[in-house]
Amino acid sequence: MKLMNKRTLLLATSLMATLGWLQPAAAQDKGPIGISMPTKSSARWIADGDNMVKYFKDKGYKTDLQYADDDIPNQLAQIENMVTKGAKVLVIAAIDGTTLSNALQKAADKGVKVIAYDRLIKGSKNVDYYATFDNFQVGVLQAGAIVDKLGLKAGKGPFNIELFGGSPDDNNAFFFYDGAMSVLKPYIDSGKLVVRSKQMGMDKVGTLRWDGAVAQARMDNLLSAYYGKDKVNAVLSPYDGLSIGILSSLKGVGYCTASQPCPIVSGQDAEIPSVKSMLRGEQSATVFKDTRELAKVVVGMTDALLSGKQPPINDTKTYNNGVKVVPSFLLKPISVDMSNWKQALVDSGYYKESQLH
Ligand code: BGC
Repeated sequence: MKLMNKRTLLLATSLMATLGWLQPAAAQDKGPIGISMPTKSSARWIADGDNMVKYFKDKGYKTDLQYADDDIPNQLAQIENMVTKGAKVLVIAAIDGTTLSNALQKAADKGVKVIAYDRLIKGSKNVDYYATFDNFQVGVLQAGAIVDKLGLKAGKGPFNIELFGGSPDDNNAFFFYDGAMSVLKPYIDSGKLVVRSKQMGMDKVGTLRWDGAVAQARMDNLLSAYYGKDKVNAVLSPYDGLSIGILSSLKGVGYCTASQPCPIVSGQDAEIPSVKSMLRGEQSATVFKDTRELAKVVVGMTDALLSGKQPPINDTKTYNNGVKVVPSFLLKPISVDMSNWKQALVDSGYYKESQLH
């Protein structure tokens, strides 16, 4: 075999370099990872998306982040497009957890792995992992704040309470409600908490698409139908966006004033308008779920999946999606009120204090 002369060698080397054969793994040459988020109408999902893009990038992954505007056909089209464009893994926070089966089958046929992000995807075998917070515990914390602030454990009462649930197409909404009722039900049974409207159960108290305006309208109706001179003392709200709507309704009929304080109102996500509301003495509590931690878990899961390792999980029994129990990683939610907001939200670096005043 004739030896390559210097010039041929140089040419060959530069050709190989152009083709990328000789280069060390460049930043962001892995993936792409398709990230499908439900909506930008709530700050938490924007934070989720941004955090994931950042942590994936740190590990050298390209990402394709899409928001679906709470529109199911839109989310389906975005997911199909991610698969067409060669996504290796899909990370999906579903709008409606039951509508993705066909799209996920197409993904599975191409060997694409699927991680359900925060919301369980139901009715499909093609969901490989689930990363979320302990959703039952979220409800326990929401109701726990109400019990504490009303002084129910000390025997105070009876108090009037109204109940709100999340979106019935989101599996989490049932876990939040069941968790909350595990705490509230004994007080309702003993008469220390009274639901004057008698509206109980997710079929009666659910709020489609977690829409604050829908919650506000329902609160308006409850107040005019059941609360004349009797006052409502507490409202179970599963999400900050609903709490803000509920509080607007209450303020509209004279609550949240010196003579008529706000009732105890719970929430979730520690969104800035709700933290500000708490600091004004309106919303009573929220549940903080550190989206940075959830993003880290999902990036770790994805990286493990793509390198043939076992993704980290800590729950193999809670989340049955109707077809299988999806192996899950559950993070711990934190109850936040005036006593710990600074430590939980500012000292942790989640918000700057200047964002909250
Ligand atoms: C999430 C909550 C959020 C709600 C509304 C749920 O699936 O777990 O954190 O408040 O959706 O966006």
